[in-house]
Amino acid sequence: TTTISPLIAGNWKMNGLRGSLDELASLAHMLISGENPRAIVVICPPATILSEVAQLGATAGIQAGGQDCHTQAQGAHTGDISASMLADAGAQYVIVGHSERRADHGETDDQVRAKAEAAIGAGLKPIICVGETEAQRDSGEAEAVVAAQLAASVPEAANFHDVIVAYEPIWAIGTGRTPTNEDIARMHGAIRQQLSARFPEQGPTMRILYGGSLKPQNAREILAVENVNGGLVGGASLLAKDFYTIISAV
Ligand code: PEP
Repeated sequence: TTTISPLIAGNWKMNGLRGSLDELASLAHMLISGENPRAIVVICPPATILSEVAQLGATAGIQAGGQDCHTQAQGAHTGDISASMLADAGAQYVIVGHSERRADHGETDDQVRAKAEAAIGAGLKPIICVGETEAQRDSGEAEAVVAAQLAASVPEAANFHDVIVAYEPIWAIGTGRTPTNEDIARMHGAIRQQLSARFPEQGPTMRILYGGSLKPQNAREILAVENVNGGLVGGASLLAKDFYTIISAV
């Protein structure tokens, strides 16, 4: 069996002024003074402080990521940020297709796939998010919904590049609720099967992160579930102590 090095990514969302760099410095200090973490550690801050996060984080092996990117490399797209700009600011990763982007900005699977392609083109590793709503889960459609999102959001290039999938049930994001370990195992197993069937090269070792109310209290058991290769953490990534506890739970 191949081992997959786990990855823990913090998604700061629209939180973080320059003062938040103190919290990053605390995290860096904990990582430097503690035992070497088993996980790759990534912070995705707002773009306004991305370059500072990348520089400060590098001292402790923390990598930086964007939260979204445009499909194009440059041009007349006021307010948008391209993957190459994120890379230029020091990012190595970028989240694409987060459910908040899909909901707030109407992003479709096709756009998400194009963003993932743009990310790969700029040398970034895309973290491609999928996940069902509560109504979809209640009506027994969760696996079909996620399968369809996955098929349409993950680009062909995934067979030859480092692409990360994040399964984030929308009803678990920011709610304090999580699926059972059995439900997580079933969904991650289905995602693994689909990725392996479509991408014979990379599918078996592609990271599949779990996201949705991952906290210090539940991280150890969720991160131990089969085919869970790390986590995407929102709220609990904002406090260095909590995020460090989750990193240490891997
Ligand atoms: C997220 O939005 O990616 C997320 C996982 O949020 P939270 O951890 O706050 O549920």
